[in-house]
Amino acid sequence: MLSVEEAQKIILAEVHPLEAESVPLLLSLGRYLACDIVSAIDDPPWNRSAMDGYAVISKDTKQAFRDAPCTLTVIEKIPAGTIPQKKVISGTASKIMTGAPLPEGADAVIKIEDTTQKDTSVLVYSTAEKGDFIRYRGEVVRQGACVLQKGVLIRAYEIALMATIGISQAFVFRRPRVAILSTGDELVDLHEQKKPHQIYNSNGYGLSAQVVAAGGIPIMLGIAKDTREDLKAKLSLVSDADFIVISGGVSVGDYDFVKEVIADLGGTVQFWKVAMKPGKPLAFGRIAGKPIFGLPGNPVSAMVTFDQFVRPALLAVQGSVNPLRATIYATLTENIQKEPGRCHFVRGTLTCENGEYEVFPTWDQDSSNIVSLVKANAYIVLPEVSGDVQAGSKVLVQTLAIS
Ligand code: AMP
Ligand code: MG
Repeated sequence: MLSVEEAQKIILAEVHPLEAESVPLLLSLGRYLACDIVSAIDDPPWNRSAMDGYAVISKDTKQAFRDAPCTLTVIEKIPAGTIPQKKVISGTASKIMTGAPLPEGADAVIKIEDTTQKDTSVLVYSTAEKGDFIRYRGEVVRQGACVLQKGVLIRAYEIALMATIGISQAFVFRRPRVAILSTGDELVDLHEQKKPHQIYNSNGYGLSAQVVAAGGIPIMLGIAKDTREDLKAKLSLVSDADFIVISGGVSVGDYDFVKEVIADLGGTVQFWKVAMKPGKPLAFGRIAGKPIFGLPGNPVSAMVTFDQFVRPALLAVQGSVNPLRATIYATLTENIQKEPGRCHFVRGTLTCENGEYEVFPTWDQDSSNIVSLVKANAYIVLPEVSGDVQAGSKVLVQTLAIS
């Protein structure tokens, strides 16, 4: 059986970034840059004051102390957004606000707390060094410099940087369209009348939400009956998707036709079964050139396998160069029983006490128990070779959400 890492490697080798598109700056949040960004301007655009205070010639303040202030004549007031009109010469100062351009002649700013203004003069109680409280032109960003590189995840900070240099449209990789099909004669949709022997198609919704959370666009194809014919019919509806995700019907039951139908439709199954729990039956292949994932039907298995295999693929086609979840070490606070042979993704509650991470399994770990995921904010990742793990051990953890 393939290991999780081998399966992830195969999948990631099979997927490549989609075409790029230009979007309004704010809509690029959470997406990946499709080109380097070179600044057309300097930031700051001119030498400017970093404080409210007085623009001075530093030499003039050499002898200034708390008990022996120096006195300078105030020649002008420079609010932010104005252009200084007067040159500062020895013995003078201009009152200046944070962000205002430094006037000619001045080489330092004294902050207002170190001064007292009296009519047209100012008492300066501290010595300024050349450059004090000045932000020089181009100090943050130089015109012509590459400020963001292709493949960067755009967060609010990158948006602020792009806005700083006047970029209103961002060039990002297109979002993948992901067809989601659930299989099972027992399933009904939320708007249907449910009979006692039926269950709602929760995977259709949960997996679609995972697609959205991973930056994709879900195309909900609904439910296929457990027959080859219906599966084929529903899969033939997939035309404009970049990926197909099916849940259920990939195991060894009498009605598990997904693998056969992929082959019937001229597709290929590249692997089936990964050494993991939950989620051993997991098919990956292609139909009409599109990658297809056959996920197990149990809701936890479907969502865990999505997280480990589909999510990285969706991030990779959006340009992420590092699509696998990062892991950290945490101290396990309860014993976990485990047989060697499969990698376990144990739903866990991760806490941080005094800078130390601790983790324990959430409740019942059955793969049909969706509440075990609702209570979780982390996966405890126990490697294939691992047997029982004792409380106090350091374990690898993938964080899902932690405040
Ligand atoms: P299967 O993988 O088709 O054998 O399904 C395994 C278990 O998951 C069964 O108990 C199914 O009823 C359940 N299941 C399959 N598909 C879904 C779905 N779309 N929503 C909720 N439960 C499902
Ligand atoms: Mg089924």
